[in-house]
Amino acid sequence: MSKCIEVPNGIICMARIDFNCPYCQKIYSDADEKYLKRYLSNLCGYTKIKCSCGEIFGMTYDIKGDAVGFKLKDKTHEVK
Ligand SMILES: [Zn+2]
Repeated sequence: MSKCIEVPNGIICMARIDFNCPYCQKIYSDADEKYLKRYLSNLCGYTKIKCSCGEIFGMTYDIKGDAVGFKLKDKTHEVK
């Protein structure tokens, strides 16, 4: 199920709202848009989530609007 929401810069169409903890692969679902709201209010372009495994990871929406979890230590989602 995909859905679109209006954001200040345009529209995000979310193709996928599930994402995994990159450490333990626990599945999160952003069905209630809790993380989306945190993501939109966070100027650095992602939100941090503390997983039940004890690790902190980043979560963002990629260019397709898919929710993705990533390790904060890698720079793959940061603008160089
Ligand atoms: Zn985890």
